[in-house]
Amino acid sequence: MMKGQKGIFLRIGITVFLIFFAGVADLNPLTSMILYAAAYFIIGHDILREAAERIKDGDGLDECVLMAVATLGAWGLALYENDGYTEAVAVMLFYQIGERFQSYAVDRSRRNVTALIDSHGEYVHVEKEDGSWDDALPETVPAGSVIVVKAGEKILLDGRVLSGSGSLNMAALTGESLPLDVKRGQAVLSGSVNLQGVLRVETTKGYNESTATKILRLIEEAGARKSRAEQFITRFARVYTPAVVGSAALLALLPPLYGLIVNGTAQWYVWVYRALIFLVISCPCALVISVPLTFFAAVGRAGKEGILIKGSQYVERLAHVKTVVFDKTGTLTKGKFDVVAVHPSGLAALGDAVSGGTEEERLLHLTAHVESFSAHPIAEALRIAYAAAGDGCAVAGGEEVAGKGMRAVVNGHAVCVGNGAFMEDCGAAPVHCGCEGTIIHVAVDGKYAGHIVISDVVKPHAAVAVKALKEKGIRRLVMLTGDGSKTAAAVADELGITEVYSELLPADKVRIVEGLTADLRQPVEALAFTGDGLNDAPVLARADVGVAMGALGSDAAVEAADVVLMDDDPLKLAAAVKIAQKGMVVVKENIVFAIGIKIFVLLLGAAGTATMGFAVFADVGVMVLAVLNALRLLFVNTLPQESR
Ligand code: ADP
Ligand code: MG
Repeated sequence: MMKGQKGIFLRIGITVFLIFFAGVADLNPLTSMILYAAAYFIIGHDILREAAERIKDGDGLDECVLMAVATLGAWGLALYENDGYTEAVAVMLFYQIGERFQSYAVDRSRRNVTALIDSHGEYVHVEKEDGSWDDALPETVPAGSVIVVKAGEKILLDGRVLSGSGSLNMAALTGESLPLDVKRGQAVLSGSVNLQGVLRVETTKGYNESTATKILRLIEEAGARKSRAEQFITRFARVYTPAVVGSAALLALLPPLYGLIVNGTAQWYVWVYRALIFLVISCPCALVISVPLTFFAAVGRAGKEGILIKGSQYVERLAHVKTVVFDKTGTLTKGKFDVVAVHPSGLAALGDAVSGGTEEERLLHLTAHVESFSAHPIAEALRIAYAAAGDGCAVAGGEEVAGKGMRAVVNGHAVCVGNGAFMEDCGAAPVHCGCEGTIIHVAVDGKYAGHIVISDVVKPHAAVAVKALKEKGIRRLVMLTGDGSKTAAAVADELGITEVYSELLPADKVRIVEGLTADLRQPVEALAFTGDGLNDAPVLARADVGVAMGALGSDAAVEAADVVLMDDDPLKLAAAVKIAQKGMVVVKENIVFAIGIKIFVLLLGAAGTATMGFAVFADVGVMVLAVLNALRLLFVNTLPQESR
């Protein structure tokens, strides 16, 4: 990319020099024509090649074709008159400068994010068996290694704290500047900076799978997608290009034919000439530059808030969102469960699967072992509740049943941990408990062994987010969950969500989202699904706009989503919708403005009163104003009063 960038600046420089030189030097017409032609090819060869490929592949017309047709038209004119070469080259030159301007803006907003988490050239301290450290590049450190992170250092690999304590600044990942205290057993993410204390961390992921690398890769892909994805302006060009080319053809043909029939004289030269001028001034540089720039300004503005929008097409879709569907656990709630009660059903059922301690302790002990295989927030809570690692128990055959629970063999006994439906699958009869909270049942060898009550709290901004979304014109807010109906109703009630579906499996969630999508008037209305990717990645992929909670969530979520909220704050969804809606307003203003001026100039051109110089000048003027308008987006205030 850097190479391409430098290349284009050199090309712009050479082109400007050649135009200038050919303009002031006293050259014979042929030489100056050759100089202009050279300048034209230097600045425009890539556009011409792309346009030719488009036409050859029958891919429809895009802005490159438009630029090629317009500038070649200008060349036709210039050759005919032996004058006006400057305009022919200038149109292409302005287009390229505008493109550069645009990608500069995009790069800048991207760099804001990447600079903070890029760990290029940094080392990790890997602990050796004798307890001493070795410095190594993070790429070379496999999962399962022990690394030491000192105060002031950045964590380069995801892992779990083995010992020590620290205070992490995760601003680069989440935008949150308050430090987070971590201690033994807690997961830490690459990209965070350890402000104080020393941490011994067991890495759980290699460099390529670690959060920071994942985010960097996402940001890069979002950039690459820009040129591939079907863009707004490309869709526009698909209608506009044939329309102007057709009009130009009619302008060249009809009046002369009319003249021929009525007066017997055709005046071909006059009308072919006007048609060419028409073609050249039809070139909508202002639009072609300002519309994508507006989308990128929106993407950049969102990036500043820790909202990663994976491509500019999602800005448009976000602006159309009318239905928002939330997953509960980890999305509206913190997904940080606390164990509130442990209710074993007696020693008989627990058997000798584990020994020692009270019945309560044994139940927790078993559960923690089974959950050692799961990444679910429930699993993490149960692991923390009983730090069972390395006690000599034999744990094998861990298997997760999405949306239901987890099973494994502990010391030769088959243990199932999960919801009521899962107990039935395991052949045990769950005892229901009137307790408030999420009930996690346990069965040992098909016999019911008791349950553990855990509770989660709603995120501090969840209620404000629901309200803010309603204010942004979201008509329908829905909550989905795999959890029981009682807990679901309590959470929904607290947040002011009236439509709730509970006890769902991942496939049910997809079905419900499809039903809700069918209720919308596509494509002007859209549905956004917000989840953490645990048991809902298929829904994230299926929704018009999939919003993943947290690059901190699961890999699958971040892959499947179109928008990633880095800090798991549901309020950021409202911010994203607001930025997108503002973005679309600016896009529409710019389109109306640019096309209005364009039609005016085209009419002047058809009537024979607009010169090429005037047309190019008008276009550049409109472009500057449209770009300034787009930059307004950088100053959108995204937060509602309540949360400041
Ligand atoms: P949500 O839709 O609220 O995000 P999930 O679909 O992730 O919930 O999980 C639904 C239910 O399945 C949970 O409430 C829990 O009872 C059970 N469950 C899922 N995974 C596990 C697990 N690893 N351990 C225990 N129970 C689990
Ligand atoms: Mg979930």
